[in-house]
Amino acid sequence: MDIQTLLKQNLGKDIYDASDKEIYDALLTMTQEMAAAKEHTSSKKKLYYISAEFLIGKLLSNNLINLGIYKEVQEILKANGKDISAIEEVEPEPSLGNGGLGRLAACFLDSIATLGLSGDGIGLNYHLGLFKQEFENGLQKEMPNPWIEEKSWLIKTDVTYPVEFKGLRVNARMYDIEVTGYNNITNKLHLFDLDSVDETIVHDGIDFDKEDILKNLTLFLYPDDSDDQGRLLRIYQQYFMVSAGAQFILDECTAKGCNLYDLPDYAVIQINDTHPTMVIPELIRLLVQRGMDMDDAIEVVSKTCAYTNHTILAEALEKWPVTYLKKVVPQLMPVIEVLDDKVRRKFDDESVAVIDRNDTVHMAHIDIHYGFSVNGVAALHTEILKNSELNNFYKIYPEKFNNKTNGITFRRWLLHCNPLLADYIESLIGEGFKKDASELEKLLKYKDDEAVLNKLLEIKHENKQLLCDYLKETQGIQISPDTIFDIQVKRLHEYKRQQLNALYIIDKYLEIKAGKIPSAPVTAIFGAKAAPAYVIAKDIIHLILCLQEIINNDPQVNQYLKVVMVENYNVTKAGKLIPACDISEQISLASKEASGTGNMKFMLNGAVTLGTEDGANVEIHQAVGDDNIFVFGATSDEVIEHYAKGDYVAKDYYETNPSIKAAIDFITSEEMLKVGQKEHLERLQKELIGKDWFMTLLDFDSYKETKEKALKAYADQKAWAQKILVNIAKAGFFSSDRTIEEYNKEIWHLA
Ligand code: PLP
Repeated sequence: MDIQTLLKQNLGKDIYDASDKEIYDALLTMTQEMAAAKEHTSSKKKLYYISAEFLIGKLLSNNLINLGIYKEVQEILKANGKDISAIEEVEPEPSLGNGGLGRLAACFLDSIATLGLSGDGIGLNYHLGLFKQEFENGLQKEMPNPWIEEKSWLIKTDVTYPVEFKGLRVNARMYDIEVTGYNNITNKLHLFDLDSVDETIVHDGIDFDKEDILKNLTLFLYPDDSDDQGRLLRIYQQYFMVSAGAQFILDECTAKGCNLYDLPDYAVIQINDTHPTMVIPELIRLLVQRGMDMDDAIEVVSKTCAYTNHTILAEALEKWPVTYLKKVVPQLMPVIEVLDDKVRRKFDDESVAVIDRNDTVHMAHIDIHYGFSVNGVAALHTEILKNSELNNFYKIYPEKFNNKTNGITFRRWLLHCNPLLADYIESLIGEGFKKDASELEKLLKYKDDEAVLNKLLEIKHENKQLLCDYLKETQGIQISPDTIFDIQVKRLHEYKRQQLNALYIIDKYLEIKAGKIPSAPVTAIFGAKAAPAYVIAKDIIHLILCLQEIINNDPQVNQYLKVVMVENYNVTKAGKLIPACDISEQISLASKEASGTGNMKFMLNGAVTLGTEDGANVEIHQAVGDDNIFVFGATSDEVIEHYAKGDYVAKDYYETNPSIKAAIDFITSEEMLKVGQKEHLERLQKELIGKDWFMTLLDFDSYKETKEKALKAYADQKAWAQKILVNIAKAGFFSSDRTIEEYNKEIWHLA
C-alpha cells in the first residue's frame, strides 16, 4: 500500500481535515508498524548495550528518514496544507539522558541497526526524565519533564521479572521502543519500569519522597544524590535495571539454545560507564541460582561483559559504601566479596581492590577485573587511562585496554537537522555519503570553487536566520544572523569551563565600554543544564543570565556583543543550534573531557572549532589540520603535571594579570549586583580566585588571543568558507557507523 493511503487509513479521515496531533499519532502508528516489519530475530549472538541513559530525542522524523520515507511524507503533507515541522513540534522530547554519554548510546543504537547488527539497548523508563530547565529571576529552576502520552513510542509488553530488594519484592515490566536502522533492520530498546510508580507524588518542582520506592523508583533520571536517600535511590534504580536486564538476557539466550556455560557465544554485554556495573555480580548470582558453580559463573560472565569508561573525573567514578549495598541489595554482597577475595589473592596491590579498606566498593574495578574489554572513548582519553588513571590495571591487563573514539549518527546530525546542507552535499557528491561517511572527502575537490564556497556561506546564513526566528519565538530574544554565532552548548560543569567563556565576555564588554570597538559583532550563545545539587554550576548559569541582561540592554555594547542563554538545552534544541554555528566552543581543561561528541556535530555542520587539545578535539585537529581549527591552552601533560605538583595557584593569576582581575572583580560589581544575586555571584568569585580546580585562569590569555584570531579570520569569508568545507569533508571519521564497526570487529564479534 502506498504511503498516502496508509496514512489516510491510520487517520480515518482526510489529511487535510486532520489536526497536527492526529497526524502525528497516525504517523507514529504507521512508522511503528513499518519498523516492526523489519525486526531481526534470527542471529545467534546478540549485543546488549546496557546504559542508565538513552538520550534518544524525538523519534518521528528520525524514523521516517531511516525508513526512507521522510521526503515522501513531507510532500504528501505539504500537498494537503500541512507542514512536517509543525507535526514534529507535537512530539514531546523524552529526556532519558543527561548529555554526551546518553546521546552516544542513542547514536550507537541507530548505527547498530543501520549496520544490520543484532543489538538491543537495556535501560530504565524514567517517567519524568532528567528535568525541564526554566529560568526564573536569573536562576535555574528544575521542573518535571513528562513525555509519556497515551500514544507514544513505548510499547508495553507482558514481559515482567521479579526484582528483590531488602524487604521488598517488585515486578519489573519491560517496555520496548523500536530502533530502526537506516535502510536496514529494526532492533529494540528495552526500558524497564514499575507499574506502581506515581507521578503525583512530585511537588514544588522536582521534590518527592525519596523513600517511597514503590512510587518513585523510575520517576526521574539521577534523582538528586546530595543526600543519603538520593544515593540509596540510585542503587535501587541501578539494581532494578540490571536485575531485570540480566534475567531478560538469560531468558533470551536459553530460548535460543544456550546452556548458560556457552553464554558468551550468545550474548555480549557492553556496560556503558559504571552505572550498570552491578550486572556482573547479578549475572553471577543468577547463574549460581540456576545451578552453576561460582567459579564457572564468574568465568562465563567475565567472557560476556565489556566495559566502556567515560570519565577520569574522580568524583564520577562510582563507589558505593558496603553499608548502602547491604541496605538495598544484600544478596549481591556475598558475590562482591568473592570477587574482592579473588583479586586480593592474586594481586598484592590495594589500589586495584574491589572493596577498599574503608569498606567501599569500586564499581569500575569490578568492570575491569571481571570484563574482557576496557575501552576509552577517544585516543587521548585511552592513553590517559593506560598511562595514569588506570595505570595499575593496565599493567595487569594490557590486552584488555583498547580505544573506540566516539561517533555520532549522521542521519540525525546532518540529514535531519540540516537538510539544506545535506541536500547540497548530495547535489555535489551524490548520496553515497549517507551510508559511507568517508565519502564526504569527495568535497575536498571543491575547495577552490567559488560557487561552492559561496553556497556553503549562504546555507550557513539561512540556518542562522532559522535559529534567530526560533529564539525570537521561543525566548523573545532578538539576534542578528549577520553576527558571528559563537556557541557553547553542553552540560554545565566546571571542567567544561563555561566560566572561561563568560570571563572572556566580561573582558570584551569592559573593552567596548572603554571604547575599543571589536573587529566583528559576536553573538555568544550558551545552553546548559546544571545538576540540581551542583551549586557552583548553578552560580555560573546565574552569571551568564546576568551578563545576558546587562549586555543585551546596553545600546553602547549590544551592537557588537550579545549573550543568549538558551533555556532547557536538549536534543531538539541541539538540532537547531548546531547547523547555525560559526565557532564551536570546545574549551574543557585538557585531560578532562573524555571525548565530547558535540564537537563532532558542530564540525559536521560546518562550524570551526575553538578548542583545547582535549578528548576528540585532538583527533579533529589531526583530521582538519592547523589551518582549519583554533587550538589554545595548556596541554594535557602540562595539566596532569600541575595536578601532580599541586603548583597551580589561581590567586597568582588574579593578582598579576590586570585583565583577569578586572573580569573577576566585575562579577560582584555594582552593575552586576543590580541585576544579580549577591550570594551566588560572591560564591562564584571566591571559587575562581581561591580554588579554580579546573584552571580557568591558567588558559585565559591563550583563550583570548586565539579567540581574537578566530574572529579576525572570519572576516575573510572565502578563507572561512574553505574552513567550513574542510571540516565537513573530514567529519566522516566521526560517524558512529565507523565507531560501531570497530566495536564489532574488536569487541563484540557479531555476525
Ligand atoms: N546534550 C546534547 C543534547 C547533545 O546532543 C550532546 C552532544 O553530542 C551533548 C549534550 C554533549 O555535548 P558535549 O559532547 O559537548 O559535552
